[in-house]
Amino acid sequence: MYEEPLFDKLTLIGLGLIGSSIARAARAHHAVREIAALDASPRVLARVRELDIVDDARGDAEQALSDADLVILCAPVGACGAIARDISPHLKHGAILSDVGSVKGSIVKEVAPHVPHGVHFVPAHPLAGTEYSGPDAGFATLFANRWCLLTPPEGESDAVEALAEFWKRLGARVEVTTPEHHDLALAITSHLPHLIAFNIVGTADHFTRIAASDPTMWRDVFLNNKEAVLEMLSRFNADLAALQRMIEKDDGKGLFDLFTRTRAIRRGVIAQGQDTAAPDFGRPHDGG
Ligand code: NAP
Repeated sequence: MYEEPLFDKLTLIGLGLIGSSIARAARAHHAVREIAALDASPRVLARVRELDIVDDARGDAEQALSDADLVILCAPVGACGAIARDISPHLKHGAILSDVGSVKGSIVKEVAPHVPHGVHFVPAHPLAGTEYSGPDAGFATLFANRWCLLTPPEGESDAVEALAEFWKRLGARVEVTTPEHHDLALAITSHLPHLIAFNIVGTADHFTRIAASDPTMWRDVFLNNKEAVLEMLSRFNADLAALQRMIEKDDGKGLFDLFTRTRAIRRGVIAQGQDTAAPDFGRPHDGG
C-alpha cells in the first residue's frame, strides 16, 4: 500500500539535474499528487515532456503555479532572486516556497524580499549531486541517504516540518541549521575542494570528475559565498604552508600525525554514508 501524498501539487522551477531528480523521486515515492514544471528553456521543457517525468510542462507560469502548495526553485543560485520576483504574484496563500541552492545566505537575501505575506519560505540544500547537468542527468535515487539542510527563518515550524517530511519521503536525512552556518560548513567541505580542483586542472590538464562540473553553478556559488570561501581559503593556505614546512624539514612525525588524523576524518565521512571509498565515487564506467 502506498503512503498518502504529502502535498497536492508540487511546482518545480528549473528542471536540470536537481529539479528533474526531485520530479522522479517525488513520483517514485508518491510524495505529491501532481507535479508541474517551469523552466527558462523551451528545449528543457520539451525534453521533460518526452521523458514524461512531470504531469504538466507547458511553460505557462500562471498555470504551473496555480494551486501549488509546494514550489521549489531548482535554477542556478544567481537566477533565484529574479525568479522569486516574477512568480510572487502567482503564489497561493499558505504555500511553501523552497529552493535547492548550494549557497543559503545570498538566497535568503535575494528571495525573501519577494515572498508574499502568507507564503512560507523555507530554504533548503540537498547535499547530493553529480557533475552532470540537465533533465537527462537526474535520477530518482539521487537523494537516498543524503543530507538535506533546511535554513528556515524563525516561526515557520509547521512549514519546516512539512518540508522535512517531503525530503525524508524522497530518502534524505534532514537537518535544520542557519544560513550562516550552512555557508561556512559548505565553504570548507565543498566549495574549497572544488576551487582547488578547478585550479589544479588549470595547471595539470587532466583531473578528477570534480572539474567537469557545471560552470554556471560554480560561478554563482563563489560569487554568492564569497566571505565564507575566502575565510576557509586563508585557513587552507595556512595549513598548506605548515605542510610545506614539514616536508622541507623532514618532519616525519608531524606528517604521520597529520595523515593519521585526516584518515580518521575521511573514514568517519564514509561511515556516515556521505561518500564512498570506491574510485571515482563508485561510478560504473563503460568499457572498464
Ligand atoms: P542544471 O542541471 O544546470 O539545471 C538548472 C536548470 O535551471 C536548467 O534547466 C536551466 O535552464 C534552468 N534555469 C536557468 N535559469 C532559469 C530561470 N531564470 N528560470 C527557470 N529555469 C531556469 O543545474 P543543477 O545542477 O540542477 O543545479 C540547480 C540548483 O541546484 C543550483 O542552485 C545548485 O546550486 C543546486 N545544487 C546543485 C547540486 C549539483 O551537484 N549539481 C547539488 C545540490 C544543489 P538552461 O539549461 O536553459 O540554463
